[in-house]
Amino acid sequence: VIEVANVTKTFGDTVALNGASLSVRRGEIVVLLGLSGSGKSTLLRHLDGLEEPDSGTVTVLGEPVSTLAGKRLRALRGRVGFIFQQFELVPSLTVLENVLTGALARVSGPRLGLWGYNRALRLAALGHLDRVGLLAQAYQRADTLSGGQQQRVGIARALMQNPEILLADEPVASLDPESSDQVMALIREIAMDQGLTVVCSLHQVDLALSWGDRIVGLRHGEVVLDTPAAGLSKAAVMEIYGRVATTTA
Ligand code: ATP
Ligand code: MG
Repeated sequence: VIEVANVTKTFGDTVALNGASLSVRRGEIVVLLGLSGSGKSTLLRHLDGLEEPDSGTVTVLGEPVSTLAGKRLRALRGRVGFIFQQFELVPSLTVLENVLTGALARVSGPRLGLWGYNRALRLAALGHLDRVGLLAQAYQRADTLSGGQQQRVGIARALMQNPEILLADEPVASLDPESSDQVMALIREIAMDQGLTVVCSLHQVDLALSWGDRIVGLRHGEVVLDTPAAGLSKAAVMEIYGRVATTTA
């Protein structure tokens, strides 16, 4: 469902991706690992059409993302959910309203006011909140929640799109280890339940190894490791970080 072929992307003098290729099958749970600056976020952004490659092609759900625009790009984005490191919630809105904004990607026609969402959408949002264990907090302001809870709202919001693919960029980087484990377990559970394909960047190697089906290592914008997580040793993974990370880890 995802084909990245030979993608190169530069920002000024910085080569963010350097001939990166990646292919992901439906239902796979893939982790991107790599040092800061290795191109993880840039690669994820290409999968959602947020970046356009300098060369190479990106195909997602059979659509040539790298050349799509307008309506067709929006339609594709509606099938791909995105979870962010900083949650990106609207702090002054309630939890339920934040989840409802996830439906904007799918709602066409005149823009709905926040209270214009129809009953079916509100019921769906409450269902997703129940799924992530936050039904009781539905009418609380988003900024009254803990980090782990806010990321659960982020997950519920992504589910509003009924996505086929879930992209997550360091979804637990700002959480403590316990909430990180819980949030990652929840993402995996939901993905398995719904047969979602997941591509998620992480910086915790141990978590990546226990959580992912497959590990993809990036270094200076190149894919230097692509292998099933089962049986993969931590030492083998640490090689993608080179000397810098092994001495600081
Ligand atoms: P981190 O672990 O810190 O999130 P990353 O692996 O996600 O890092 P990217 O954010 O993909 O790395 O960045 C790869 C390189 O591209 C970096 O050198 C970064 O500075 C550069 N870069 C990314 N986006 C831009 C941009 N919009 N403008 C300029 N440079 C950028
Ligand atoms: Mg990043």
